[in-house]
Amino acid sequence: MKREIIVAREAGFCAGVRRAVQLANDSLEKESAKKLFSLGPLIHNPSVIEELEAKGMSVLSSSLDTKAVKELPGNAKLLVRAHGVSKEQYELLKSNGLDILDGTCPHVIAIRRMIERAAEEGEPVVILGDKGHAEVTGLMSFAKEGTVVSSVEEAADLKFDKPFTVVCQSTLDSSTFEAVKSEILKKYPFAKIRNTRCQATEKRQKEALSLCGVCDAMIVIGGIGSANSNRLAEICKSSGKATFFVTDPANWEPAELKPYRKIGVTAGASTPQSDIDLIIGKLKDLI
Ligand code: SF4
Repeated sequence: MKREIIVAREAGFCAGVRRAVQLANDSLEKESAKKLFSLGPLIHNPSVIEELEAKGMSVLSSSLDTKAVKELPGNAKLLVRAHGVSKEQYELLKSNGLDILDGTCPHVIAIRRMIERAAEEGEPVVILGDKGHAEVTGLMSFAKEGTVVSSVEEAADLKFDKPFTVVCQSTLDSSTFEAVKSEILKKYPFAKIRNTRCQATEKRQKEALSLCGVCDAMIVIGGIGSANSNRLAEICKSSGKATFFVTDPANWEPAELKPYRKIGVTAGASTPQSDIDLIIGKLKDLI
């Protein structure tokens, strides 16, 4: 069977992830007197983390307590990942005079500003996204009053008697956003609903869906803990196409793709080009 491989144009590192990795590499190469620590895994991709660790970066817990902060060496430089951290973490790091390298994605900072403005105006905030995800938890810490909803059912249970602002996790899919938006507007036409999905997410998800329309099977490459890669896989699956979520490209065997002729390939925003190239190489061996 003659096979065809179509690779999404918008696949792999987004601008926010590229910037955070670049900040880490620059610090490791140019600031030899500093010891770089990332607050939580810099991105959800083990191979990239291993490379940075080999160059000297250490990964700490994403949330440090006072004791852990006090135990850091005097030359420590703390890298904040693209998801950002909570207000309390910033305050703890700053009040201990730590050197902070802020890799928070500008898009996440823009969402944070919307939340801060709502807090200044005394408005509660609803964040539509994954409870417990680092971006969501970090953003929520900037609200005075707020709640996280993850589904239409949870949105139906919201109770407000004053204006409120709704934002969403940057990597949310558009169908969940639109469904929750309609649910909230039914009961609260005055709700200020902001679509804060980022462009990188929008483009990757749209393109993945259009590839589903023309391919027999889809491969999504991404870290197991990567929210945006998992969403890409869910979107492909929900289109009805056979979907293969590859989390370990080095050990992945392409044999499972044998029954399919036209194969689409996409990758999450934290997937390095080297992982995409590895999968394409394996698929070409199958042709
Ligand atoms: S997925 Fe979007 S919000 Fe998240 S780091 Fe990338 S560009 Fe920024």
